[in-house]
Amino acid sequence: MAIRLGDYEEIVGGDVIQELHVLADRVKNRRLQNINSTPVGGGVAEILTRMLPLLRELGIEASWDVIKGDQSFFNVTKAFHNALHGKKEEITDEMLEVFRETTRANLRDMNIRGDVVLVHDPQPAGLIERKREIGCQWIWRCHIDVSAPDARVWEFLRPYVEQYDAAIFSMPDFAQQLPIAQYMVAPSIDPLADKNKELSPSYVTQVLEKYQLDPERPIVTQISRFDRLKDPLGVIAAYKMVKRRHDCQLVLAGGGASDDPEGEEVLREVQQEAAGDRDIHILLLPPFSDLEINALVRGSTVVFQKSIKEGFGLTVSEAFWKRKPVIGGAVGGIKLQVINGVTGFLVHSPEGAARRLARLLDDRALRERMGDNGYQHVKQNFLLTRHVKDYMLVMLALDHPDDDIVHLG
Ligand code: UDP
Repeated sequence: MAIRLGDYEEIVGGDVIQELHVLADRVKNRRLQNINSTPVGGGVAEILTRMLPLLRELGIEASWDVIKGDQSFFNVTKAFHNALHGKKEEITDEMLEVFRETTRANLRDMNIRGDVVLVHDPQPAGLIERKREIGCQWIWRCHIDVSAPDARVWEFLRPYVEQYDAAIFSMPDFAQQLPIAQYMVAPSIDPLADKNKELSPSYVTQVLEKYQLDPERPIVTQISRFDRLKDPLGVIAAYKMVKRRHDCQLVLAGGGASDDPEGEEVLREVQQEAAGDRDIHILLLPPFSDLEINALVRGSTVVFQKSIKEGFGLTVSEAFWKRKPVIGGAVGGIKLQVINGVTGFLVHSPEGAARRLARLLDDRALRERMGDNGYQHVKQNFLLTRHVKDYMLVMLALDHPDDDIVHLG
């Protein structure tokens, strides 16, 4: 059954829903065209899937298109992605040309029809070249932690970004020196999605059993694409340090994304590192395993998101929504979500992660307190309804480029 805005009232309250309708009255009947680079896998696809029906219910003609690219293009954009996160990557002139060439092909083929075009991340950023002929508003929505980007890649992208009417970043740390308006909008999770909704305890047990997990012993979980920036090897290292004293099981569950070509290689490294320990469960999940992911997190004792770089990390809010404490890398958007010592722990190394994990495994009351705090933190700040509101506010703000305050009356 389709989810309606009214279904969120029970969670966020009637005022929040009413406010959305008031704002929608000012921006509805517009075509909001989203463009990204993958229909499934990763946080952007996750959010768009959930958000579009709500925008449409509010009267905004929201649509979603995906650019086309071959393996060599996605190899280049993954290197860009890593480099923008500050990782050292060799970027050659040939790679820049691959980016330009695929951009040209998409410029030719893509039907741009939005009144507002919301372009997500660097892969489709070059589509802005159509702005000259199509007089709509263009927004570049960056989901990446660009607080310390590789200069070569950022300087390559900057001329594209500067042509947009505005940029949206996930947090103030990521803001850039740009001649265009910048807005800060944190991502969000959908509490009613299969990934997050309440589940029966019997279903949770069934999923744990399916993956040969013992519900009687602690389960420590990280849900992530197999990506070095998610530091799966660091999670295994932390688990191994703790395992000497605490009996526990580790789950590393992930799937791929069609715009991430590195997954298979990283998965092999992870499998190698886990070999020989029957309590480490590496689960390669197909797309749309949302109910099982939900159950795995609900069946967990502690959740990890030990990223080395992270734009936001939806998995953190997803875990909090299930009242699980999170041990997160002290980077990017994880710092918005994990309040150190309150909703979980921020860590800088496998050793730090191991120390925090041992502490949490020892103290049930602390786990429960942090889980409850995390739940409240997400409820206040990181639910889909707040995100929809922020996007409408950005649309409104773009209509009033010279005003600091927009009066709705
Ligand atoms: N996810 C999933 N299956 C997987 C791995 C991840 O559905 O095998 C989901 C995860 O639950 C989250 C999203 O994909 O909703 C990942 O978003 P996040 O911001 O954590 O990281 P990204 O992949 O965008 O870097």
